[in-house]
Amino acid sequence: MTGTPSAASEGADRDGAGRRGTVLHGTGGIWRIRTDDGAELDASLRGRLKQDESRKLAVGDRVVVEPDERGGTAWAIADILPRRSQLVRRAPGSGVMQRVVAANVDQVVVVFAAARPDPHPRMLDRFLVIAEGNQLPARVVINKSELVPEAARRARFADYERAGYPVHFTSARERLGLDELHASLAGRSSVLTGPSGVGKSSLLNSLFPGLNLRVGEISASVNKGRHTTVGGYMHPLPDGGYVVDTPGLREVGLWGLPLEDLDLCFPELRPYRERCRFADCAHLVEPGCAVLEAVAAGAVSRERHESYVKLREELRETEEAY
Ligand code: GDP
Ligand code: ZN
Repeated sequence: MTGTPSAASEGADRDGAGRRGTVLHGTGGIWRIRTDDGAELDASLRGRLKQDESRKLAVGDRVVVEPDERGGTAWAIADILPRRSQLVRRAPGSGVMQRVVAANVDQVVVVFAAARPDPHPRMLDRFLVIAEGNQLPARVVINKSELVPEAARRARFADYERAGYPVHFTSARERLGLDELHASLAGRSSVLTGPSGVGKSSLLNSLFPGLNLRVGEISASVNKGRHTTVGGYMHPLPDGGYVVDTPGLREVGLWGLPLEDLDLCFPELRPYRERCRFADCAHLVEPGCAVLEAVAAGAVSRERHESYVKLREELRETEEAY
């Protein structure tokens, strides 16, 4: 994450001429902005900002707009405000080339189903690592929970609760667990992700009836990629906050995450990594590895460690390929 400017930098308009807003989506240089007073308008980037390669606009960016007809729209983006967080996709092999998938994200919400489709824990781990790699808090939602008895589903996801992730069991169909999930989405900007068919759109429609998302809309854009949009889509929530729908978060991959930082992306491994005999321990086969000892002793989940091993292998291969 680069820079953590506080909300203090977002005071009143400098001269009263500009209006502040949030970038909802963009296509071909025209950006949809939701102003803080609730209006939506189209704006194009001022030439000066367009030329600044280091400040590429992304959905979620906070901007100042001013009336200006020169860019083909009635409004121009006169300034981009500092970001408090971002979800980036880095080019492999270097930390320099990166593209911001969404700016000013508060959390990543990973949705899976208790069944139909069966959850794929390794895929869940990958989403969580992407969140951790961007220093974004994550929560797990297990929807369709009415399909699996409570004890069985709790046992299945206990590793995540133990690792410190909030786990919500919901049913969009039977309206279970919705109040708690609603409270954790309202007023925040959340990247909502997960495999297709788990009920992401159904959940959003149950939580925010005003949103009127077409069922399947989120997954269609996430899985097939909205190739025309630059960095996804922000849906303003009726109660404040946003849900961000990014094209192919799965394809964000782990590119650019330094190999030696992967263990940091598994919160339950962090207490052990300092105790390994070798400072550069990869926690694979090394003697005196505190992580492997914790796995053997049952203090760290064997499945989560297996995910770590698989993701590390994948990262290493990507690094070697470039
Ligand atoms: P998305 O692809 O993640 O957006 O999933 P959808 O919202 O399109 O839902 C996929 C399918 O799962 C639809 O047929 C929904 O009716 C169904 N579904 C959604 N929520 C639930 C639930 O809580 N329980 C059950 N049994 N089915 C659900
Ligand atoms: Zn180790």
